Amino acid sequence: MIAFEPTPEQRTLRDALRGEMQQVQEAALRGDRRPGAVLPPEELCAFIGRHRLGAMLVPAAYGGLEYDYVTVAVVLEELAVGCAGLAAMVAATLHAVAPILIAGTTAQRDLFLPLVVDDPGLAGFALTERHAGSDIMALKTSIKRSGAGYTVGGAKCSVINAGLARFYLVFGTSGAAKGRAGLNAVVVPASAPGVEVGPPEDKVGLRNAPTAEVVLREVFVPAEHLIGVEGGGYLLLMQTLDRGRAFSAAVAVGVARAAFEAALAYARERRQFGRPIIRNQGISFALAEMATEIEAARFLVWHACRLIDLDEDYTRAAAMAKLFSALVAERVASQAMDVFGRYGYNRTYAVDKLWRDAKALATVEGTHNVMRMVIASLL
Ligand SMILES: Cc1cc2nc3c(=O)[nH]c(=O)nc-3n(C[C@H](O)[C@H](O)[C@H](O)COP(=O)(O)OP(=O)(O)OC[C@H]3O[C@@H](n4cnc5c(N)ncnc54)[C@H](O)[C@@H]3O)c2cc1C
Repeated sequence: MIAFEPTPEQRTLRDALRGEMQQVQEAALRGDRRPGAVLPPEELCAFIGRHRLGAMLVPAAYGGLEYDYVTVAVVLEELAVGCAGLAAMVAATLHAVAPILIAGTTAQRDLFLPLVVDDPGLAGFALTERHAGSDIMALKTSIKRSGAGYTVGGAKCSVINAGLARFYLVFGTSGAAKGRAGLNAVVVPASAPGVEVGPPEDKVGLRNAPTAEVVLREVFVPAEHLIGVEGGGYLLLMQTLDRGRAFSAAVAVGVARAAFEAALAYARERRQFGRPIIRNQGISFALAEMATEIEAARFLVWHACRLIDLDEDYTRAAAMAKLFSALVAERVASQAMDVFGRYGYNRTYAVDKLWRDAKALATVEGTHNVMRMVIASLL
């Protein structure tokens, strides 16, 4: 069966969240406008905790919401309409939880899943390093056998939820010479001795998503914190990244929709030359293209998520969804800025936030070129 519409349950959920988005937008704008790098407004963390958003994929037996991936995409789009930073905090948590759901033992699920159910239930995904961005095989963080467990040493950059997370899902190597066979994934509790969080990064966009370096000073974790088999981290990482890309794409659709809706409302209200500017084809045609691209992006996202739900091959679909949606978000947000004229640029409206948030999505979860590399390799 091919379904292009959300189910009644998904609609109810979406509409309930939509009703709360104005409050979220107000808090988000306050957070975004603060100078320097600061933690998100408390209302945003409280919102995540109240709705157990970090536990959307967690089985009900653990107190989670047990949503399928399509439903999560529907939710992330709504959240991103309210605030992409908020959506990014949730997506990062889902990203950190994914390896536990994919390869975790029952004991590991018992141990770690409740941590994202409890308020505010955030986790961090720690992969990127100073010299290892797109090139993940350049990772230097070491995860080495040590007595009854492992020691983890290194520094992870740009970790969303750093400082607020209950745990970090850390990828590292047991020896660079081993290549892919040396990659491992471990859960590092935020409270473990030797975990240090740097100051929040002062970012251009996603300013409500706290992002910082996480330094791991020979942190000891018990053996049961290794997710999957020793040396099996590469496959786990690939599966996790693919899923994360589908989620990041859903966030991009939300940002694009927020920019489109703002531009449409403004174009109807703003009058020049004696009539609303939307009465000019130069504006209405741009809006028509924005609406079309957003629909197309959403279907790519749902398609990728549906493949994940069906446990079919989703790598190419997720990369296509991420590439296209992030490009659409950038394009739509930029065009929306143009529709607002000087009122977009002087920050009278919030459209500049959407423009800056959209730009981040070009890089988060892999750059446009990395998506192109993945798609090209699967043509
Ligand atoms: C807001 C934000 C939040 C983030 N959150 C997290 C997080 O929570 N956890 C985490 O682990 N990481 C996180 N990241 C890091 C993110 O995953 C990386 O920034 C991303 O993978 C790109 O790495 P890089 O920035 O080092 O760029 P680089 O890899 O240095 O790339 C620089 C440029 O070169 C291009 N390029 C590189 N190699 C090639 C190639 N072979 N062919 C063509 N072009 C190429 C890239 O497309 C890019 O345009 C975050 C980043 C941002 C911006």
